[in-house]
Parts: sequence; structure tokens; C-alpha cells
Amino acid sequence: MAEIQLKNVSKRWGSFVGVDNFNLTIADREFLVLLGPSGCGKTTTMRMIAGLEDPSGGEIRIDGRVVNDLEPKDRDVAMVFQSYALYPNMNVYENIRFPLRVRGTDPSEHEARVMRASAMVELDDFLHRKPAELSGGQRQRVALARAIVREPNVFLMDEPLSNLDAKLRVSTRAQIKNLSHELSVTTIYVTHDQIEAMTLADRVVVMEKGIVQQVGSPTEIYDRPANTFVASFIGNPAMNLLEGEIRDGTFRCEATEIDGLDAPDGPVTLGFRAEDSEVSATDGQITAPIYTLELLGDATMVAVRLGGALVTAKTDKSFRARIGETISIRIPRDHCHLFDAHTGKRLG
Ligand code: ATP
Repeated sequence: MAEIQLKNVSKRWGSFVGVDNFNLTIADREFLVLLGPSGCGKTTTMRMIAGLEDPSGGEIRIDGRVVNDLEPKDRDVAMVFQSYALYPNMNVYENIRFPLRVRGTDPSEHEARVMRASAMVELDDFLHRKPAELSGGQRQRVALARAIVREPNVFLMDEPLSNLDAKLRVSTRAQIKNLSHELSVTTIYVTHDQIEAMTLADRVVVMEKGIVQQVGSPTEIYDRPANTFVASFIGNPAMNLLEGEIRDGTFRCEATEIDGLDAPDGPVTLGFRAEDSEVSATDGQITAPIYTLELLGDATMVAVRLGGALVTAKTDKSFRARIGETISIRIPRDHCHLFDAHTGKRLG
């Protein structure tokens, strides 16, 4: 059992705030992903939980016990980093066994535990190889097995897939998902990759500039982004955002008009996703020449330019048109997201 509580946790270096007032309870066995752009404070938050960084303020509890003053080795957390730091002179078996030796675990347990951990990451056939004789994906799996073998209360993973090529990233991601299901251990996973976050997480914490922007399930943050930062960070392509004004339920901006909206009068930012819009010949709310076309295999992404911004729409894979040809994009009003024009916060 390992519930983790963060209460007003902050990290400052001089006047620079790396993490600002982080508050969250991470449930026992939850898979929590910290997501955000480079420098938003994800790694610092995780390092404070691990005990590798002292908070400047606030309280961290693991299972109700304040751990602020506990050494990393006394917190019962195992970390996996993007650089896997294996011992080059030890073979896979010895690398996986290493934490058991360091912690003085009963030697009679070692073999069974190493075999169990290596089987979980499908390394049974590689136990005698040295790290130099492994692929990047296999090395990362040794690092995972080395964390698993400890049977910790908490896993902390910092971008464990970022050194792998695209294909290996997908297969190792699936393996981590499967492992987390099997092991059922509280896990905190740091990434800047929204697909990783969406596929792995029970809940995602979206951060920017040290501040938590939204906490929710992958579906919640995708379907109801709390602000324009989350709206544009989650989803590929980014949500289309148009600055304009609502009068009597009609949104107007330079490029378009959308009526039938249930919102008070005033300036707003209106958002809609490419996959919620439709491309037609004439009857959309936005009519403009095609700026670019991308064939994705299962669909086609079409973009038009409105002022300085690109507006994208997803359409059928059989869609055929040329750059410069005029198209019309229909925005279904029940798929519009409205945000405060000044604060960026979701309305309604
Ligand atoms: P990345 O995805 O690039 O690893 P991150 O979201 O994990 O980024 P952090 O490493 O947590 O970001 O850093 C948060 C901010 O704190 C950054 O602006 C970083 O420059 C700053 N920072 C980190 N460590 C220190 C330090 N020791 N002294 C001063 N500033 C630091």
C-alpha cells in the first residue's frame, strides 16, 4: 500500500520558482503521469518525491508518513531514468541483482527474484550478456527489471522511453503498461510526450512553468481541457483556437460566425478539434484556400490559414484536393470549447 500526498510542495532556487505549490494525493496503485513541456517542473517534482531534491516548502507523505527528512534509500521508491546507467562490466543477471546486494536482501532469494523480474521484461535469454551486447530497448528493459526486482512500494520513471527509437518506444510503452497492470504498484511517470501520457495514465497532471494546469483522466483532459494551454498541449494536431466575441449566442471573429452557442456576451477564445470539424465544398463556417494537406494513411489533415493562425480539419482518407483550392470547414457547435479571452480558463 502506498498513497503519496503532496501538500503545498514548492521548489525555489533564489527567486526562480521551479515548482509552485503542488497539491495532490496519488492513490495506492495509481499510475500518475506528470506531463508538460521542457522546464515545466516535472523532473523536479519527481526528484522531490524520490528524496533527491529538498523541497523549499510543503510536505510529502508516503502512506501518511512525512518523508521530507528521509534519505532516498529509506523511502522504498525505485527509479528508472532515461539514461539507464547499467554497470558495463556486469552481465544482465548481475545488473538486475545489484539492488538486492546493496540492500542486503537474503541471498537465497536473489535468483528467484532476478528470474521473475527478467521474465517480466522478457530478458530471460540475455542474462549472460554484457550491456554493450544489448540493443537500446533491451538495456532499458534491464533498467526496468532492476527497479522491479526491488519490489518497491513506488515506481518513479523519468522519461524512460526517450532514448529509444519510435518503434521501440511503442513496444516498450506497451510493456510498461502491461507491467504496471501486473505489478499494481503506485507509479509516477514523467514525460513530455502526450501520447505516452494518454496511453499509460490513470490520471495525468499537466504542468506549465512550475504550476499544475489540470489533473484528470486522459479522457477528461482531452474532452474538457481546463484552459487554452491544456487545450493546445493535448491532442495532435493542437486544438484550433479562434479569438473573437460572443453576442446573443453567436460567436464572431474576422473569419467566421458560429451561432447557437450557450454563453454570455463578451470576448472569448473558441476552440474546436480537427476531428470534430467537417470538410465540405460550400456549407461550412470557414471558407478559405487550402494551405496544406497531409495524408496520414487512415485520414487526411487539411489546413487553411486565418490571419496568422492555421486551422486544421480532419477528413476522409480518400479526400482529394490541391493546395490553393477553396474548401469550407464546418464546425459543429456542440463540439466547441469556450475559454475566457483574458485568463484562458474554460467557461462552463
Ligand atoms: P525536461 O522535460 O526538460 O526535463 P522538466 O519539466 O523536467 O523539464 P525540471 O527539470 O523539473 O523541468 O526543471 C524545472 C525548472 O527548474 C527549469 O526551468 C530548470 O531550468 C530549473 N532548474 C532545475 N534544476 C535547477 C537547479 N539546480 N538550479 C536552478 N534551476 C533549476
